[in-house]
Amino acid sequence: MSEQDVILYRKRRDITVEGYDIPKPVRFFEEANFPDYCLQVMTKCGFVEPTPIQSQGWPMALKGRDLIGIAETGSGKTLAYLLPALVHVKAQPRLANGEGPIVLVLAPTRELAVQIQEEAAKFGSNSNVRSTCIYGGAPKGPQIRDLKRGVEIVIATPGRLIDMLEACHTNLRRVTYLVLDEADRMLDMGFEPQIRKIISQIRPDRQTLYWSATWPREVEALARTFLCNPYKVIIGSPDLKANQSINQFVEVISDHEKYPRLIKLLSELMDGNRILIFLETKKGCDQITRQLRTNGWPALSIHGDKAQAERDWVLAEFKSGKSPIMTATDVAARGLDVKDIKCVINYDFPSSLEDYVHRIGRTGRAGAKGTAFTFFTSSNARYARGLVKILQEAGQSVSSALAALARSGGGAMGGGATGNFRSRGRGFGNRQLRSGSNAIPVAGKKPW
Ligand code: AMP
Repeated sequence: MSEQDVILYRKRRDITVEGYDIPKPVRFFEEANFPDYCLQVMTKCGFVEPTPIQSQGWPMALKGRDLIGIAETGSGKTLAYLLPALVHVKAQPRLANGEGPIVLVLAPTRELAVQIQEEAAKFGSNSNVRSTCIYGGAPKGPQIRDLKRGVEIVIATPGRLIDMLEACHTNLRRVTYLVLDEADRMLDMGFEPQIRKIISQIRPDRQTLYWSATWPREVEALARTFLCNPYKVIIGSPDLKANQSINQFVEVISDHEKYPRLIKLLSELMDGNRILIFLETKKGCDQITRQLRTNGWPALSIHGDKAQAERDWVLAEFKSGKSPIMTATDVAARGLDVKDIKCVINYDFPSSLEDYVHRIGRTGRAGAKGTAFTFFTSSNARYARGLVKILQEAGQSVSSALAALARSGGGAMGGGATGNFRSRGRGFGNRQLRSGSNAIPVAGKKPW
């Protein structure tokens, strides 16, 4: 490609790049020079061309440099880092007895970690690259066995990985390719100390890659302390932005109107397709699920207090469509790729605008259309202005009730410089939470 071609290609696919010595994007799978076994799997999956994050992210990652990759949910980010990871593994000396992984992928939730590992297994199996998933809530035995046997790729949630490190079941001395998926959440106040602990055990000349759909400016400074001369690639606008293929409806109502409205919505919407309902707390999740089931709705629920076996079972029932209604806390907000979720309902508004964008991003995936309904009460007024901005940028209409709250509510704006990141106090050492914010955790404790 000539320089002019590159500019036009990036413009057409809405790719913005930053950094020194940036490689040209790849337009076709063949241009990325991946081994044949990767190309075969992609053909088998029916993929036609790289997604924008892949077309620019692959050549960057393959250069061995650090990277921040920002693209909306469902845009093919997982393969954007997994395929270069396979190439990376193949270029390293084989694992010797007792050595830990070469590639470490950190993810904020167990479900996301499992999903990433399924993708890693699909693409790694033809190449003898072994992967395993290390996550809390599941028995340690099989995970320890995998680690002891030796695996090139470990996908982990931070807490369980630290347990494994402390018990000397693995070590990070061989890690040279580190990925933080949903990186803004990983650097959020709940995870930052754990991330620091893990990174302190990894050699400093590793390659580090951050991937996220949302990237509040507050994270950037902290993120860069773990990076060396990174590239940055952004697909679409760097501002907090909702997927354009989702129809968003925000209804200003009071708390006691929520349940009757939910039932009315379900009666209108339910045609056997999947509906995902988000609640802010585990208790709320249990309560509404019980109520729904009592009223004859086939609802199951998933949240952080459930045993992992039950979480896996609930997700499988939902994915297969056997149980088409799932209620969830934010454990299900990020990265989960369930095909054909027809509609997301925010029964409670989340505690950040980033989470709003992630939650509704569970529908409208891979080019499909989706719908999101959000119940918004006067106690959420501080998010009104930011929410209006997100709605307007996605070409959605704003009700007069929400506009009025935005005018009177003040408060957080969505995205970019004014993003409403969870740990709003300047600096990550500041654990002070804004008073009145509902269900925001005390340091390190997740309500979800
Ligand atoms: P992710 O954003 O990684 O969760 O990916 C979302 C979905 O897109 C997954 O089901 C992927 O298998 C799929 N996908 C990844 N790369 C491509 C591609 N190049 N073309 C079409 N679909 C893709």
